[in-house]
Amino acid sequence: MQQKTTPGTITTKLSEIFTSIEGEGILFGTKTMFVRLAGCPFKCHWCDTPYALPMDSGIDYCVEEVKEIISKSLQPNTYKINFTGGEPLVQYEAVLELAKFVRQKGLRIYLESSCYDAVRFSKVLPYIDICKVELKLRDSKIVNEKQYCNLLKNELECLRQAVSSCKTTYIKVVVTNSSNPKEFKDIVREVFRIAKPSELAGFIIQPSYRVDEPTLDVLFGFYDAVYPVYDQVRIVPQLHKIIGAR
Ligand code: SF4
Repeated sequence: MQQKTTPGTITTKLSEIFTSIEGEGILFGTKTMFVRLAGCPFKCHWCDTPYALPMDSGIDYCVEEVKEIISKSLQPNTYKINFTGGEPLVQYEAVLELAKFVRQKGLRIYLESSCYDAVRFSKVLPYIDICKVELKLRDSKIVNEKQYCNLLKNELECLRQAVSSCKTTYIKVVVTNSSNPKEFKDIVREVFRIAKPSELAGFIIQPSYRVDEPTLDVLFGFYDAVYPVYDQVRIVPQLHKIIGAR
C-alpha cells in the first residue's frame, strides 16, 4: 500500500474519491462526490464494497492532502459530498475536519454510516446536513445476537440525535427474501416512537442486490408495514447498479 502521510497531522485511510450519481436513498439520481473512507468493523453479507472493508485497505493521506484532492476533483453542479465507506465513523476525526472544509465551499454534507457508534456520530453531527440512518436487520449477519442489540441501540440513538438536531434525516433498511417481517415491524415501531413522521425525509426499503433478492410480494409486505404510519415510504433499488455506474 502506498503511504502518503505528513508527520503531525490527522491522517486518513482513503479508499477512493469519485463523482457519480447518488444511487440510493431519497436523493437518488443527483450528482454527488463520494469520499469513501477505508475500513469497516462489519461484514454484512450483502455488502457491495468489500474492497473498502479491511482496516488496512486504502491509501494513507493527511487530511490536508485529501482537501486538495477534493478541491481539484470537484465537478460543476455538484451540490453535496457524500462521506461513505467502509464505515466513515471509524475515522470520525478526519470526517469532521473534511466536513468543516467542504462546508466552507458552500456544499452540503451527507453522511452514509451504519450508525454503529452514537458517541462518534454526535461529534460529527454538527457538520452534517443530511443523515441516512441505516437500521440493519438480523439477516444482514452483521454481528452476533448480543452485539446486534447494542448496534440497534446505537442506530436508534443516532436517529434521535439527527431529528433532534433538525437534520435532513431518512431511514434506510436493506431487506432480503429472508428478512423477518416481525422484526421489521418492531423496528418500524421503534423508529416512530423516536421520530414524528414530519421529522423524517423518507423511509427507504432497499432490496438486496444479487443476494437472496426479495420477491415483489415480500417487498409489499415490508411496504405495508410502514405505509399506515408513514406514507412517504419507498421501495428503491440501487440505481447505480442498474446503470452500471460506480
Ligand atoms: S456496515 Fe456498510 S460498509 Fe460495513 S459491511 Fe455493512 S454494508 Fe458494508
